[in-house]
Amino acid sequence: MPLSNSQYDSLQREYDSRRISAYHRVKNHKEELYKKEPEILKIDQSIASLSIKHAERLLEGDSSAIVSLKKSISELETKRSALMNNLGIDMSYIEPEFKCPDCRDTGFINGVRCHCFKQASIDLLYQQSELKSALSEENFEHFKYELFPDTPIDGKSPVTPYQAIKNGVIKCRSFIDSFDEKHGNLFIFGPTGVGKTFLSKCVAKELLDKGKSVIYFSAFRLFDVFRENAYNKSSDAQDSYQNIFNCDLLIIDDLGTEVSNSYTTAQLFLCINERILRHKSTVISTNLDLEGLRDTYTERIFSRISKDYDFIRLVGSDLRLKTRQA
Ligand SMILES: [Zn+2]
Repeated sequence: MPLSNSQYDSLQREYDSRRISAYHRVKNHKEELYKKEPEILKIDQSIASLSIKHAERLLEGDSSAIVSLKKSISELETKRSALMNNLGIDMSYIEPEFKCPDCRDTGFINGVRCHCFKQASIDLLYQQSELKSALSEENFEHFKYELFPDTPIDGKSPVTPYQAIKNGVIKCRSFIDSFDEKHGNLFIFGPTGVGKTFLSKCVAKELLDKGKSVIYFSAFRLFDVFRENAYNKSSDAQDSYQNIFNCDLLIIDDLGTEVSNSYTTAQLFLCINERILRHKSTVISTNLDLEGLRDTYTERIFSRISKDYDFIRLVGSDLRLKTRQA
Protein backbone atom coordinates (compact mmCIF):
# COMPACT_ATOMS: atom_id res chain seq x y z
CA MET A 1 0.00 0.00 0.00
CA PRO A 2 2.32 2.71 -1.20
CA LEU A 3 1.59 6.41 -0.86
CA SER A 4 1.76 7.19 -4.57
CA ASN A 5 3.26 10.37 -5.98
CA SER A 6 -0.20 11.65 -6.82
CA GLN A 7 -1.44 11.03 -3.26
CA TYR A 8 1.66 12.76 -1.95
CA ASP A 9 1.13 15.74 -4.27
CA SER A 10 -2.52 16.01 -3.37
CA LEU A 11 -1.65 16.01 0.33
CA GLN A 12 0.86 18.81 -0.25
CA ARG A 13 -1.75 20.73 -2.27
CA GLU A 14 -4.15 20.37 0.64
CA TYR A 15 -1.53 21.96 2.90
CA ASP A 16 -0.88 24.76 0.40
CA SER A 17 -4.54 25.62 0.04
CA ARG A 18 -5.10 25.46 3.81
CA ARG A 19 -2.23 27.91 4.30
CA ILE A 20 -3.41 30.21 1.51
CA SER A 21 -6.90 30.38 2.97
CA ALA A 22 -5.47 31.19 6.42
CA TYR A 23 -3.67 34.22 4.90
CA HIS A 24 -6.71 35.09 2.85
CA ARG A 25 -8.84 35.26 6.00
CA VAL A 26 -6.29 37.57 7.60
CA LYS A 27 -6.39 39.85 4.54
CA ASN A 28 -10.20 40.08 4.69
CA HIS A 29 -10.16 40.72 8.42
CA LYS A 30 -7.61 43.49 7.99
CA GLU A 31 -9.67 45.18 5.28
CA GLU A 32 -12.70 45.14 7.57
CA LEU A 33 -10.62 46.52 10.40
CA TYR A 34 -9.20 49.37 8.27
CA LYS A 35 -12.73 50.35 7.28
CA LYS A 36 -13.74 50.57 10.92
CA GLU A 37 -10.61 52.42 11.98
CA PRO A 38 -8.56 54.02 9.16
CA GLU A 39 -5.91 55.07 11.68
CA ILE A 40 -4.88 51.40 11.98
CA LEU A 41 -4.14 51.29 8.24
CA LYS A 42 -1.78 54.26 8.61
CA ILE A 43 -0.08 52.59 11.56
CA ASP A 44 0.35 49.33 9.64
CA GLN A 45 1.85 51.20 6.70
CA SER A 46 4.30 53.00 9.00
CA ILE A 47 5.25 49.72 10.69
CA ALA A 48 5.88 48.16 7.27
CA SER A 49 8.17 50.98 6.12
CA LEU A 50 10.02 51.12 9.45
CA SER A 51 10.53 47.34 9.29
CA ILE A 52 12.19 47.70 5.89
CA LYS A 53 14.47 50.43 7.27
CA HIS A 54 15.22 48.17 10.23
CA ALA A 55 16.31 45.36 7.91
CA GLU A 56 18.53 47.77 5.93
CA ARG A 57 20.24 49.16 9.06
CA LEU A 58 20.71 45.58 10.28
CA LEU A 59 22.65 44.81 7.10
CA GLU A 60 24.73 47.97 7.52
CA GLY A 61 25.40 47.10 11.18
CA ASP A 62 24.13 50.48 12.38
CA SER A 63 23.26 49.51 15.95
CA SER A 64 22.09 52.89 17.29
CA ALA A 65 19.61 53.30 14.38
CA ILE A 66 18.35 49.77 15.06
CA VAL A 67 17.56 50.55 18.69
CA SER A 68 15.58 53.68 17.83
CA LEU A 69 13.71 51.94 14.97
CA LYS A 70 12.73 49.08 17.28
CA LYS A 71 11.44 51.59 19.79
CA SER A 72 9.31 53.40 17.18
CA ILE A 73 7.88 50.10 15.91
CA SER A 74 6.93 48.96 19.38
CA GLU A 75 5.28 52.34 20.14
CA LEU A 76 3.19 52.00 16.99
CA GLU A 77 2.24 48.45 17.95
CA THR A 78 1.09 49.62 21.37
CA LYS A 79 -0.98 52.34 19.74
CA ARG A 80 -2.52 49.81 17.36
CA SER A 81 -3.51 47.41 20.12
CA ALA A 82 -5.08 50.29 22.09
CA LEU A 83 -7.19 51.20 19.04
CA MET A 84 -8.15 47.55 18.54
CA ASN A 85 -9.02 47.28 22.19
CA ASN A 86 -11.42 50.20 21.80
CA LEU A 87 -13.12 48.32 18.98
CA GLY A 88 -13.24 45.19 21.15
CA ILE A 89 -11.14 43.23 18.64
CA ASP A 90 -8.47 40.77 19.68
CA MET A 91 -5.04 40.58 17.96
CA SER A 92 -5.77 36.97 16.99
CA TYR A 93 -8.36 38.37 14.57
CA ILE A 94 -5.59 39.59 12.25
CA GLU A 95 -3.20 36.69 12.76
CA PRO A 96 -3.31 33.58 10.54
CA GLU A 97 -4.86 30.58 12.24
CA PHE A 98 -3.02 27.38 11.33
CA LYS A 99 -4.17 23.82 11.88
CA CYS A 100 -0.58 22.99 12.86
CA PRO A 101 1.14 25.99 14.49
CA ASP A 102 4.42 24.02 14.57
CA CYS A 103 4.93 24.14 10.79
CA ARG A 104 2.41 26.92 10.05
CA ASP A 105 0.72 24.46 7.68
CA THR A 106 3.73 24.24 5.39
CA GLY A 107 4.29 20.56 6.24
CA PHE A 108 7.96 21.32 6.94
CA ILE A 109 10.04 22.41 9.94
CA ASN A 110 13.57 23.51 8.94
CA GLY A 111 13.37 21.50 5.75
CA VAL A 112 12.28 18.33 7.54
CA ARG A 113 8.77 16.89 7.26
CA CYS A 114 6.58 17.99 10.18
CA HIS A 115 4.98 15.41 12.49
CA CYS A 116 1.56 16.50 11.22
CA PHE A 117 2.48 15.63 7.63
CA LYS A 118 3.84 12.24 8.66
CA GLN A 119 0.59 11.46 10.47
CA ALA A 120 -1.48 12.74 7.54
CA SER A 121 0.44 10.37 5.20
CA ILE A 122 -0.12 7.48 7.60
CA ASP A 123 -3.84 8.28 7.80
CA LEU A 124 -4.06 8.40 4.04
CA LEU A 125 -2.08 5.19 3.62
CA TYR A 126 -3.90 3.10 6.14
CA GLN A 127 -7.27 4.84 5.78
CA GLN A 128 -7.37 5.58 9.45
CA SER A 129 -10.11 8.18 9.14
CA GLU A 130 -12.49 5.73 10.85
CA LEU A 131 -10.13 5.56 13.79
CA LYS A 132 -10.02 9.35 14.01
CA SER A 133 -13.80 9.63 14.22
CA ALA A 134 -14.04 6.76 16.74
CA LEU A 135 -11.54 8.58 18.95
CA SER A 136 -13.93 11.44 19.58
CA GLU A 137 -16.06 8.94 21.53
CA GLU A 138 -13.48 6.45 22.71
CA ASN A 139 -11.13 8.36 24.99
CA PHE A 140 -10.37 8.80 28.67
CA GLU A 141 -12.99 11.53 29.03
CA HIS A 142 -15.74 9.11 28.05
CA PHE A 143 -14.54 6.38 30.35
CA LYS A 144 -17.39 4.97 32.43
CA TYR A 145 -16.01 3.28 35.51
CA GLU A 146 -19.53 2.51 36.70
CA LEU A 147 -19.81 -0.14 33.96
CA PHE A 148 -17.19 -2.23 35.73
CA PRO A 149 -18.55 -4.23 38.67
CA ASP A 150 -16.57 -4.03 41.90
CA THR A 151 -17.24 -7.63 42.89
CA PRO A 152 -14.95 -10.61 42.23
CA ILE A 153 -16.05 -12.53 39.14
CA ASP A 154 -14.98 -15.98 40.21
CA GLY A 155 -13.50 -17.74 43.18
CA LYS A 156 -10.00 -17.71 41.68
CA SER A 157 -9.28 -14.04 41.03
CA PRO A 158 -9.48 -11.63 43.98
CA VAL A 159 -9.29 -8.66 41.57
CA THR A 160 -12.64 -7.18 40.55
CA PRO A 161 -13.29 -5.89 36.99
CA TYR A 162 -13.37 -2.38 38.44
CA GLN A 163 -9.98 -2.74 40.15
CA ALA A 164 -8.49 -4.30 37.02
CA ILE A 165 -9.61 -1.48 34.70
CA LYS A 166 -8.56 1.15 37.22
CA ASN A 167 -5.12 -0.38 37.41
CA GLY A 168 -5.10 -0.56 33.59
CA VAL A 169 -5.90 3.14 33.25
CA ILE A 170 -3.09 4.03 35.71
CA LYS A 171 -0.60 1.97 33.68
CA CYS A 172 -1.80 3.53 30.41
CA ARG A 173 -1.47 7.02 31.86
CA SER A 174 2.05 6.35 33.03
CA PHE A 175 2.87 4.83 29.61
CA ILE A 176 1.67 8.06 27.96
CA ASP A 177 3.41 10.37 30.45
CA SER A 178 6.78 8.63 30.09
CA PHE A 179 6.40 7.95 26.36
CA ASP A 180 9.43 9.96 25.23
CA GLU A 181 11.77 8.76 27.98
CA LYS A 182 10.86 5.12 28.52
CA HIS A 183 9.69 3.91 25.10
CA GLY A 184 7.50 1.41 26.94
CA ASN A 185 5.26 -1.32 25.54
CA LEU A 186 1.89 -2.59 26.74
CA PHE A 187 0.32 -6.01 26.54
CA ILE A 188 -3.38 -5.72 27.36
CA PHE A 189 -5.11 -9.06 27.77
CA GLY A 190 -8.41 -10.45 28.96
CA PRO A 191 -11.67 -11.90 27.62
CA THR A 192 -13.81 -10.29 24.92
CA GLY A 193 -15.57 -7.02 25.72
CA VAL A 194 -13.83 -5.98 28.93
CA GLY A 195 -12.35 -2.73 27.60
CA LYS A 196 -9.09 -3.74 25.88
CA THR A 197 -9.79 -2.01 22.58
CA PHE A 198 -11.27 0.97 24.35
CA LEU A 199 -8.14 1.33 26.48
CA SER A 200 -5.80 1.08 23.50
CA LYS A 201 -7.86 3.71 21.62
CA CYS A 202 -7.58 6.02 24.64
CA VAL A 203 -3.80 5.66 24.39
CA ALA A 204 -3.93 6.31 20.62
CA LYS A 205 -5.94 9.50 21.12
CA GLU A 206 -3.68 10.94 23.82
CA LEU A 207 -0.54 10.33 21.76
CA LEU A 208 -2.05 11.59 18.50
CA ASP A 209 -2.97 14.76 20.39
CA LYS A 210 0.68 15.06 21.42
CA GLY A 211 1.72 14.96 17.76
CA LYS A 212 3.03 11.38 17.73
CA SER A 213 2.63 9.19 14.67
CA VAL A 214 0.28 6.34 15.45
CA ILE A 215 -0.69 3.32 13.37
CA TYR A 216 -3.67 1.35 14.58
CA PHE A 217 -4.07 -2.11 13.06
CA SER A 218 -6.20 -5.10 13.76
CA ALA A 219 -3.90 -8.13 13.81
CA PHE A 220 -5.82 -9.33 10.76
CA ARG A 221 -4.86 -6.22 8.81
CA LEU A 222 -1.25 -6.22 10.02
CA PHE A 223 -0.72 -9.78 8.83
CA ASP A 224 -2.21 -8.77 5.47
CA VAL A 225 0.45 -6.08 5.22
CA PHE A 226 3.13 -8.66 6.06
CA ARG A 227 1.87 -10.92 3.29
CA GLU A 228 1.63 -8.07 0.82
CA ASN A 229 5.17 -7.03 1.56
CA ALA A 230 6.38 -10.48 0.58
CA TYR A 231 4.97 -10.05 -2.96
CA ASN A 232 5.35 -6.35 -3.61
CA LYS A 233 8.96 -5.24 -3.71
CA SER A 234 8.47 -1.78 -5.26
CA SER A 235 10.33 0.97 -3.44
CA ASP A 236 7.05 2.74 -2.58
CA ALA A 237 5.69 -0.43 -1.00
CA GLN A 238 8.90 -0.85 0.94
CA ASP A 239 8.68 2.72 2.21
CA SER A 240 5.18 2.26 3.51
CA TYR A 241 6.09 -1.10 5.03
CA GLN A 242 8.84 0.72 6.91
CA ASN A 243 6.19 2.88 8.62
CA ILE A 244 5.27 -0.17 10.68
CA PHE A 245 8.79 -0.14 12.11
CA ASN A 246 9.21 3.62 12.32
CA CYS A 247 5.93 5.09 13.57
CA ASP A 248 6.09 6.34 17.17
CA LEU A 249 3.35 4.00 18.31
CA LEU A 250 2.04 0.81 16.70
CA ILE A 251 -1.16 -0.62 18.12
CA ILE A 252 -1.97 -4.23 17.26
CA ASP A 253 -5.56 -4.95 18.19
CA ASP A 254 -6.96 -8.43 18.76
CA LEU A 255 -3.77 -10.41 18.31
CA GLY A 256 -4.58 -14.09 17.92
CA THR A 257 -7.61 -13.63 15.65
CA GLU A 258 -5.55 -13.42 12.44
CA VAL A 259 -4.80 -16.14 9.95
CA SER A 260 -1.14 -16.89 10.50
CA ASN A 261 1.52 -19.14 9.09
CA SER A 262 5.22 -19.55 9.75
CA TYR A 263 6.08 -16.62 7.45
CA THR A 264 3.72 -14.14 9.12
CA THR A 265 4.72 -15.37 12.59
CA ALA A 266 8.36 -14.73 11.71
CA GLN A 267 7.32 -11.26 10.50
CA LEU A 268 5.53 -10.59 13.77
CA PHE A 269 8.70 -11.39 15.69
CA LEU A 270 10.70 -9.15 13.36
CA CYS A 271 8.20 -6.32 13.92
CA ILE A 272 8.12 -6.66 17.72
CA ASN A 273 11.86 -7.10 18.03
CA GLU A 274 12.84 -4.37 15.59
CA ARG A 275 10.57 -1.84 17.28
CA ILE A 276 12.15 -2.58 20.66
CA LEU A 277 15.62 -2.11 19.16
CA ARG A 278 14.54 1.19 17.60
CA HIS A 279 13.02 2.40 20.90
CA LYS A 280 9.56 2.55 19.36
CA SER A 281 6.56 1.70 21.49
CA THR A 282 3.99 -0.98 20.74
CA VAL A 283 0.63 -1.75 22.34
CA ILE A 284 -0.85 -5.21 21.85
CA SER A 285 -4.36 -6.18 22.88
CA THR A 286 -5.45 -9.81 22.85
CA ASN A 287 -7.86 -12.41 24.16
CA LEU A 288 -4.94 -14.76 24.65
CA ASP A 289 -3.56 -15.29 28.11
CA LEU A 290 0.17 -15.86 28.56
CA GLU A 291 -0.10 -19.59 28.02
CA GLY A 292 -2.14 -18.99 24.90
CA LEU A 293 0.46 -16.53 23.65
CA ARG A 294 3.23 -19.10 24.08
CA ASP A 295 1.17 -21.84 22.41
CA THR A 296 0.05 -19.71 19.45
CA TYR A 297 3.38 -18.08 18.61
CA THR A 298 7.03 -18.95 18.91
CA GLU A 299 9.06 -19.06 22.09
CA ARG A 300 11.02 -16.06 20.77
CA ILE A 301 7.90 -13.91 20.54
CA PHE A 302 6.74 -15.02 23.96
CA SER A 303 10.04 -14.25 25.65
CA ARG A 304 10.45 -10.85 23.92
CA ILE A 305 6.97 -9.79 25.05
CA SER A 306 7.30 -11.12 28.58
CA LYS A 307 10.63 -9.35 28.98
CA ASP A 308 9.90 -5.96 27.42
CA TYR A 309 6.16 -5.35 27.85
CA ASP A 310 4.10 -4.12 30.79
CA PHE A 311 1.10 -6.33 31.36
CA ILE A 312 -2.44 -5.14 31.90
CA ARG A 313 -4.84 -7.91 32.74
CA LEU A 314 -8.53 -7.10 32.48
CA VAL A 315 -11.22 -9.36 33.88
CA GLY A 316 -15.00 -9.59 33.74
CA SER A 317 -17.80 -10.44 31.38
CA ASP A 318 -18.67 -8.83 28.06
CA LEU A 319 -19.51 -5.15 28.71
CA ARG A 320 -20.79 -4.64 25.19
CA LEU A 321 -23.73 -6.88 26.01
CA LYS A 322 -24.37 -4.87 29.17
CA THR A 323 -24.29 -1.49 27.43
CA ARG A 324 -26.59 -2.82 24.73
CA GLN A 325 -29.05 -3.94 27.41
CA ALA A 326 -28.78 -0.68 29.31
ZN1 LIG B 1 2.87 20.56 11.09
